[in-house]
Amino acid sequence: MKYDVLIIGGGPVGNYLASLLARDFSVAVVERKGSFGGKACTGIIGAANYERLGLPEEAVLNRLRGAAFYSRIQSFEIERKTPQAYLVDRKVLEKSLAERAVRRGAEYYMATTFQGFKNGKAVLQHLGERLEVEADFYVGADGVSSTVAKAIGAKTNAEFLSGYEVEVVGDFKKDFVEVWVNKDLNGDFFMWVAPVNEELARVGTLGSIEALNRFLRVRMLRPTSIVEFKAGSVGFGWRKPWVRGNVALIGDAALQIKPTTAGGIVYGMFCAHALRRALLDGRPGEYERGCSFVKKQISFGLRFRRVFKGMSQEDIERVFEVLGTEEAREVIETQADFDDHVKTAKAILRRPKLLAKLIRISPSIVRYLV
Ligand SMILES: Cc1cc2nc3c(=O)[nH]c(=O)nc-3n(C[C@H](O)[C@H](O)[C@H](O)COP(=O)(O)OP(=O)(O)OC[C@H]3O[C@@H](n4cnc5c(N)ncnc54)[C@H](O)[C@@H]3O)c2cc1C
Repeated sequence: MKYDVLIIGGGPVGNYLASLLARDFSVAVVERKGSFGGKACTGIIGAANYERLGLPEEAVLNRLRGAAFYSRIQSFEIERKTPQAYLVDRKVLEKSLAERAVRRGAEYYMATTFQGFKNGKAVLQHLGERLEVEADFYVGADGVSSTVAKAIGAKTNAEFLSGYEVEVVGDFKKDFVEVWVNKDLNGDFFMWVAPVNEELARVGTLGSIEALNRFLRVRMLRPTSIVEFKAGSVGFGWRKPWVRGNVALIGDAALQIKPTTAGGIVYGMFCAHALRRALLDGRPGEYERGCSFVKKQISFGLRFRRVFKGMSQEDIERVFEVLGTEEAREVIETQADFDDHVKTAKAILRRPKLLAKLIRISPSIVRYLV
């Protein structure tokens, strides 16, 4: 059995890539799990790109059109008329992308684990049985702890963080996500409350389980109202190369994830388009160049992260004072882009008053971000 492309990992990015490639190439996907979904992931995806990428309507559980930001002592809201982000069911998203890929001709090997390469073939394990599958090109879409990345000797200097998320019953504003930035509760990352509906929300953070528990207490959400708990991990940084010989990395395997918010689904899918183009052109080496938007966002996100880590809670309070002003909120409401944080930061820094206030808080904030 020989394929044009063998994709290792049937997560959202691997399945999306399979659906893109299946019309032009013979494609197979190898997925370790016996069924889709189950990963710790809030499932928030920017609405505009959800539509642009043609993602399945049936996976959308909720539409979010606003955000409420909380620091230790302040809060402000950003509100739009139309939904800016969708909250999705990961299992439905992954399964329906896989179904789309199969309908277009892709073959799936479920409950099958990639173990490594031997003599140019992928060595797979399926329920105790060893298989060898050959392809002209291999893609590692096998997530943050990618075995394919290890197999090709990809190196990383990334910061890896554990992520914890619960689904909890409570009382929520259905179309607003909450973002809490409070280093007393968690010095590593912000905390979020993403409503599934008025009575159920996904609440999470990156860092430690203790930080999530502290937040749940402050947010007055009862541990005994938790109906689901998940843990995972994210990596902020570079894992390179993205292509070595006839093997490419994509999605979390390549750490194509926003260091600002830990969102990785859309960036992985953007890069899937770049990889398709490179393969169609017969120039896989061009794949990384096609991901220039994503690379620019990751670079910005890593600078943002450095600034965030260097800030005290007092600095954060002062930034909140600036972002909570009418002028800043107006800029965010009219110009912020869910997936283009470079554009959002530039729109804020282009306003002389806001720029001056931020420089007064810390010149390094502005220097790092521009
Ligand atoms: C707490 C938390 C919250 C998050 N929230 C969001 C969010 O709201 N929005 C967002 O965009 N992103 C979010 N992310 C990030 C998001 O989950 C990832 O960016 C996304 O899952 C990447 O998709 P992927 O297909 O590249 O990798 P994955 O989703 O990790 O899929 C990889 C697949 O490969 C399979 N696999 C692994 N190893 C092998 C192997 N050896 N053989 C065969 N198969 C293998 C796995 O079973 C899995 O199905 C969050 C992450 C965390 C930790």
